[in-house]
Amino acid sequence: MRTKADEETETPGLADTHCHVLAADYPDMSETFERAAAAGVTRMLVAGSDLRTSREAIDVADRYSSFGVHAAAGVHPHEAVHASGRLPDGIRELALHPRVAAVGETGLDYYYDHSPRDMQRSCFLEHVRFAGEIGKPLIIHGRDSYDDLRAILRKETGGAARGVVHCFSGTEEDAADLLDMGLYLSFGGPLTFRRSDALRDLFRTLPEERILLETDSPWLTPHPLRGKRNEPSYVRMVYERAAEIRGVPLERLAAAVFKNAALLFGWGDSAAEVGA
Ligand SMILES: [Zn+2]
Ligand SMILES: [Zn+2]
Repeated sequence: MRTKADEETETPGLADTHCHVLAADYPDMSETFERAAAAGVTRMLVAGSDLRTSREAIDVADRYSSFGVHAAAGVHPHEAVHASGRLPDGIRELALHPRVAAVGETGLDYYYDHSPRDMQRSCFLEHVRFAGEIGKPLIIHGRDSYDDLRAILRKETGGAARGVVHCFSGTEEDAADLLDMGLYLSFGGPLTFRRSDALRDLFRTLPEERILLETDSPWLTPHPLRGKRNEPSYVRMVYERAAEIRGVPLERLAAAVFKNAALLFGWGDSAAEVGA
């Protein structure tokens, strides 16, 4: 159990702004959130990938609200084909739930191409419009698709988008354009991988007030635990590496990211407000 003194020295805690802690991968869900709390993680966002997992993400956020868990509801580009390239009405309803901090994850994945690209684009477009309508931020997934992501976002939002491109893997030019549109860029385990020098070089140059950090659990486990299942408590390793890359104290970076996440997702910005 964390004490008051712990909270004061660790304030405001760490945020894992993107994870998928769902029953299929976490039969030990309670212990997973206990370990996250022990590692100082006081905010987590569990993202849905389709109607079923979005509903489950909200259940998890409700059940574990005292750990600072929030949800996002949306259709992952891999699943766009199963939604016929649409944003289902069921997700539109779920997204209004008070513990849903964002719409997503949505986006375009031209690396795996699990859904036809035209369906990915129409599905993404509906998410962008819907998020604007209900005033919640977007959680955007992109892989080998940044040109189309940028074009759709710019056209639909008039260049004033609200949300985060999670697990950013684009170029310097992509980063500059997305930042120019007002988006945040989020980074996870790949910052710690041996072959990520280019990503680290880019990360070092980004404005502190526009970065977020995440695990994308259960995937992308940080070095040296690669190969193991990832979990929110390991986000500490991402923060440590991120602080080292930028040459700033961990506490400073953690406070900045916590503030960025609170601003974007509208959840409480102090550790005392866990569950807020
Ligand atoms: Zn993703
Ligand atoms: Zn994800």
